[in-house]
Amino acid sequence: MVMASSDPPILIIGAGVLGLSTAWHLTERGARVLVIDRERIADGASCGNAGLICFGHPPLTRPGVSIQGLKWMFDKRSPLYIKPRLDGELLRWMWSFHRHCNKRHFDRCMDVLCALGGLSAKCFDEMFDATSIDCDWRREGWDDVCMFESTLDHAEAEAAHLEPFGYRAKRIDGETLRAESQAWKPGIAGAIRYEDSATMNPGAFTAGLARELVARGVELRSGCTVADFLRDGDGVTGVRLDTGEEIAAPHTVLTAGVWSDALARSLNLRIPMQPARGYHRDLGGLAHVPRLGCVLNETFIAVTPFHDTLRLAGTLEIAGFNAPWLKDRLSHLTDACGRYLEGVDTAEVTSEWAGYRPCTPDGLPAIGGVSSHPGLFVATGHAMMGMTLGPGSGKLLAEEILGERPSYASPMLSPLRF
Ligand SMILES: Cc1cc2nc3c(=O)[nH]c(=O)nc-3n(C[C@H](O)[C@H](O)[C@H](O)COP(=O)(O)OP(=O)(O)OC[C@H]3O[C@@H](n4cnc5c(N)ncnc54)[C@H](O)[C@@H]3O)c2cc1C
Repeated sequence: MVMASSDPPILIIGAGVLGLSTAWHLTERGARVLVIDRERIADGASCGNAGLICFGHPPLTRPGVSIQGLKWMFDKRSPLYIKPRLDGELLRWMWSFHRHCNKRHFDRCMDVLCALGGLSAKCFDEMFDATSIDCDWRREGWDDVCMFESTLDHAEAEAAHLEPFGYRAKRIDGETLRAESQAWKPGIAGAIRYEDSATMNPGAFTAGLARELVARGVELRSGCTVADFLRDGDGVTGVRLDTGEEIAAPHTVLTAGVWSDALARSLNLRIPMQPARGYHRDLGGLAHVPRLGCVLNETFIAVTPFHDTLRLAGTLEIAGFNAPWLKDRLSHLTDACGRYLEGVDTAEVTSEWAGYRPCTPDGLPAIGGVSSHPGLFVATGHAMMGMTLGPGSGKLLAEEILGERPSYASPMLSPLRF
């Protein structure tokens, strides 16, 4: 598709990693793009997350997770916490989530997520080749660190699931970990190293990507809250802001993270998602930090070293929007890490943050055009894998918008599947 310079630009709602990645791929193909966000650019979930780029990461819908989640329901310090409440929306989401937590669905998800992960890996390489984004990008893998031999054995068995997809993982013992960094306390059993993955400072990545887009002619506007879609019959022809301003566009892209569902509802389109809040606590002034980003297996907490900061991130709290922060969960980040790492309990806290993962009940994102509403395209629902899968998802969407043959397609990603 060739756009004349007088045509209005393609409009993207939401400047998180999904919106910015889609803008990148559209711009690379010569399209004109306007990205709008109600907040500052690149300030949502995409800026404060753990920054682990885990290609081939399994979905949240794993066999047994829903039952475990129910057991954890009343424990505010558990890795997955669902605030008990009578909410029809939440109950429907939980029932659907439960129905998807089985081996057959898990295997089907892995096919999709591994393909999308492979595509994203190539996109990251291309982006870093073409730009000078400075975000502590390290393509050296991440470690699934286990305190106990039994969990290490289990983690090794899980890693074997990825081998058929061409992702490499190797077992390393506790001594090797400690030889790499004195940050690790004695007594840790070891780790599974996912060698093909990467880590980065996500806020620096999205800010850098936004700068690169501006340099390539993309217009970024903050402080623009979309209230509604402009319609021509069933077709979507742009948006109306809460100020009443109308922005017409040949294609409208909905990448508003977990808020996408609320916007889609005005079109009678449902992308059911729960906002799964997670926290980070950044620490400064540590004498030693792990060599690579990692997840502390028994706690589900991610630990990522940036150049002068150690980020602890995690917990998955389904409590609706705008519930007060659970301070217990923030201090749990430090307490749990203190069992593995030297110095974290006394380190200076330099920042605390919370953000919402957009979680669909089937564990997969929604990516693609909405055939019931020509002109509308969606990329959302990436849950805990948005940074990892963002660039690949943006490529698929850009290809579809511009009528190119898609690099990958699966009906399991359809925004109309719910
Ligand atoms: C604690 C934590 C740790 C995580 N760790 C990782 C990790 O290690 N690796 C990984 O791959 N993923 C991780 N994630 C997940 C990842 O952060 C998300 O999947 C991803 O950021 C979602 O990106 P997004 O672009 O869909 O949404 P967002 O980044 O939330 O962007 C959506 C944007 O839409 C805007 N918006 C919303 N409504 C409107 C409106 N009406 N009008 C205009 N703009 C609007 C918002 O202001 C926001 O800027 C983590 C998440 C959390 C919370």
